[in-house]
Amino acid sequence: MNHELKIWSEYYKDIISKIKRFEIRKYDRNFQVGDQLILREFEPCKECNGGGKVVTSITTGNEEITECDCKKPHGKYTGNGCVTSVDYVLNGGQFGIEKDYCVMSITVVSSRKTYK
Ligand SMILES: [Zn+2]
Repeated sequence: MNHELKIWSEYYKDIISKIKRFEIRKYDRNFQVGDQLILREFEPCKECNGGGKVVTSITTGNEEITECDCKKPHGKYTGNGCVTSVDYVLNGGQFGIEKDYCVMSITVVSSRKTYK
C-alpha cells in the first residue's frame, strides 16, 4: 500500500541525503513492512508552523489561540517528492513512544524534482 504524506523541508532534505532513515508517524494509516511512503516536501506557514492555530499573548500568562489567516494545508508544497520503502515498523506503546505512534525504517527508492 502507498501512503502519501507531507514532510517538512528540513526533514525532506535529510531523507534525500540518506542521513535520516526513519520516520516517526501517528499510526493512523496501518503502516506495514513492504508499503511505500510517498513523501511530498512541504513548507509550513511561518505564522502557525503548519498547525493552523496561532497563540497570541495578550498579557503575561494569558494566551489566546486563534485561527491563522492562512488556508489549508497551512503552507505550500514545493513540488519535490520522493518514494521510500517501509523496511521495519516499530509500534508505539513501548520505549517511551506514544501508543498511537510508530517508528519506521525507510529507504529512498526514488526522488523527483517535480512531484505531481
Ligand atoms: Zn498559518
